[in-house]
Amino acid sequence: MVSNEVNQYIEKLIPARSEHVLKMEQYAKQHDVPIMELSGMETLLTYVRLKKPARILEVGTAIGYSAIRMALASEASEIVSIERDEERYNIAKENVNVLDLTNRITLLLGDANELQSQVEHYAPYDFMFIDAAKGQYQHFFDHYSTMLSKDGIIITDNVLFRGYVAEEKGLESRRLRSLVKKIRSFNEYIMQHPDYYSSILPVGDGMMVSVRKS
Ligand code: SAH
Ligand code: MG
Repeated sequence: MVSNEVNQYIEKLIPARSEHVLKMEQYAKQHDVPIMELSGMETLLTYVRLKKPARILEVGTAIGYSAIRMALASEASEIVSIERDEERYNIAKENVNVLDLTNRITLLLGDANELQSQVEHYAPYDFMFIDAAKGQYQHFFDHYSTMLSKDGIIITDNVLFRGYVAEEKGLESRRLRSLVKKIRSFNEYIMQHPDYYSSILPVGDGMMVSVRKS
């Protein structure tokens, strides 16, 4: 991963966000909502701007921060985003309403493992952003990539999980060990996947960028 120093340097250069976006960032900080780090967010937005996807699927809305940032960055994009936590879903709804983005952001409440048919309704997607329970990444990837358009892109967040994924020495808790094992196996699986060209960016918490072979 990049050092704290490098990360802070990059973050300091990122231009100011609008008032409401800043409010969401503050809310997330105060309430421990794990929204994307600034540097990761900017990188994700760069891919969205390059791709200009007609439709984006996001797994893991939280309070709508990344969905809203993608919508603001790419005016031609419609976004479907899934969240299983009702409180966060409600806050996301409110944020989407306030910013007048209800026509472009569709929020679905429920477990991403159980919403296939609702998600299918809006398919195909040209771009996917997976940012939910890290232990289930492979499952999300396998299920939702069937709804990806031919030259679509999937970005998966947190694939280096605070650097633990690359650490050789033993990890203290069993829970952390098991999570790291799952992320490692996801990374190996995706890097060898015959249908995708993938690379891992050591930015933010680690992002896997997968481009579907056409
Ligand atoms: N993408 C957001 C942050 C998402 S945090 C942003 O950057 O702004 C991850 C979210 O995924 C959490 O709010 C969590 O409740 C949700 N989540 C985890 N597992 C899920 C699942 N199986 N289905 C739906 N949502 C899930
Ligand atoms: Mg994340």
